[in-house]
Amino acid sequence: MSQQADAITQQVGLFLNPVAQRRVDFQASCGKQFGRLFLAEDAEQAAHILSQQQIDLLVIDLEHFDRSLDLETVGALVRQRNGAPVLLVCAFSTAGWLVELMASGPLDYVIGPVRADELNQRLASLASVAASGADELRRLLAMGSHVQQAVQGGDDQRALAVRICAALCAWPGVVHAAMFEASAGELALSAEHSPSGLDLERILASTDSLSQSSVRHVFPGLLAAFTGELALLDAPEKAGDPQLAQALLGIGAGMAIGVPILATGPGAPLGAISLLFARAHVFTSDELATLSDLAQLAAFGLRLDEMSRDAEQLVARLTGLATTDALTGVANRRRGEELLEQEVKRARRYRAPLALIAYDIDHFKDINDRYGHPCGDAALRIVGETTQAALRASDLLARSGGDQFQIVAAHTNAIDALKMAEKIRVAIAGTAFPGCDRLTISLAVAQLGDQESADSLMLRVSAALARAKRAGRNCVELAMR
Ligand code: GH3
Ligand code: MG
Repeated sequence: MSQQADAITQQVGLFLNPVAQRRVDFQASCGKQFGRLFLAEDAEQAAHILSQQQIDLLVIDLEHFDRSLDLETVGALVRQRNGAPVLLVCAFSTAGWLVELMASGPLDYVIGPVRADELNQRLASLASVAASGADELRRLLAMGSHVQQAVQGGDDQRALAVRICAALCAWPGVVHAAMFEASAGELALSAEHSPSGLDLERILASTDSLSQSSVRHVFPGLLAAFTGELALLDAPEKAGDPQLAQALLGIGAGMAIGVPILATGPGAPLGAISLLFARAHVFTSDELATLSDLAQLAAFGLRLDEMSRDAEQLVARLTGLATTDALTGVANRRRGEELLEQEVKRARRYRAPLALIAYDIDHFKDINDRYGHPCGDAALRIVGETTQAALRASDLLARSGGDQFQIVAAHTNAIDALKMAEKIRVAIAGTAFPGCDRLTISLAVAQLGDQESADSLMLRVSAALARAKRAGRNCVELAMR
């Protein structure tokens, strides 16, 4: 022990952080862990020291690095370590960088702010590993790296779980890896992988619901997911459940461990990782710590996946809001114009016909004056719905403002657009508008000419609409070229 302690104090360390005071603080609080400690203020300086010195432990402190930090250069430092101990101190707000850096190689990390005693403890355990030269830990770190890469892949949640399980099977002696996920009080087997083709069916198939499984209190993977505690069965018979013991031995599993995947804050566990080993194996505390780190990494990956889906939904909602008319639910003017521009380009490229139909409610001011604005609003909504029902999926209806609408009809020539317009005119004239009179609309139709721009098409259709109004309303007018 004292030899190891000596070896630890002979460790050569390198600490990287851009802030001088932070480097001084690290030296003051953790310097005693090292025989010699180098301090670097940027990645280039650290790379230089690494190329000149045999460094036992590299500590990269990402605090105070700003977004301009070249992650690629820091990643190169991790790669340069080739599995030798690296401790990354990372703020929660920059935890996203962690995943990126982990793709460069195995590393240990701690999310800041971290107390000096905690940091010293982490350094001591890393240093003791480095001093004992544990091959096993190198293997663990390599497996950690596999899992980190699996998390990196950025697929859907299920594919991610499958990749994590496959990566966990890189652990020597693992014959089966599985991931359970908890959601709305239910537990599901989200993925499993076995190099030797084992499956959990014989153990878990006793019931459809894992929450009701007869082995939920004894099978380590399930137990960990329920209790949030590590569950270890180093000999199947110790479960006190002869059937489970028989089933485990029957599939060639001599030991089982369940590692909980914990939520970041308070709350039920998110699930668990289950590993089956062919033979009993005594875990070192480092191995157990690595396992629980891996489970957290899996949770991190799952959360990232969830977050990115949430973000996609949010973007979709915001985009929807930005392109939709709030009153009628049809596309707004901006979206209508955007789409017209796109369709004009497409029609030119493919020499396909394109028509624009514009219409305006007749005497709509009178409706508002006579029946009130809310009734006018309801009428606008009904006009939108009635028109939409008469359109094909490829036609886009937009409210271009006030009581005016327009339809961008792709692959449509003037004759067909006239027919469409007439159909819409008849449909609106025949629609009942609760609380007010019947309504009519005046319409105009224009077909895009050769080399014509969207603006010119809109001008022509507006002029035709004005003619339709002058001609007595409730009619369709064709735009001139
Ligand atoms: P015309 O036949 O010439 O089109 O006569 P009009 O009365 O419909 O005249 P115009 O199209 O110029 O007037 C549109 C009216 O639509 C004016 C405005 O009060 C009303 N309006 C515009 N936006 C809204 C809305 O969001 N809700 C309601 N209820 N009315 C609106
Ligand atoms: Mg009008």
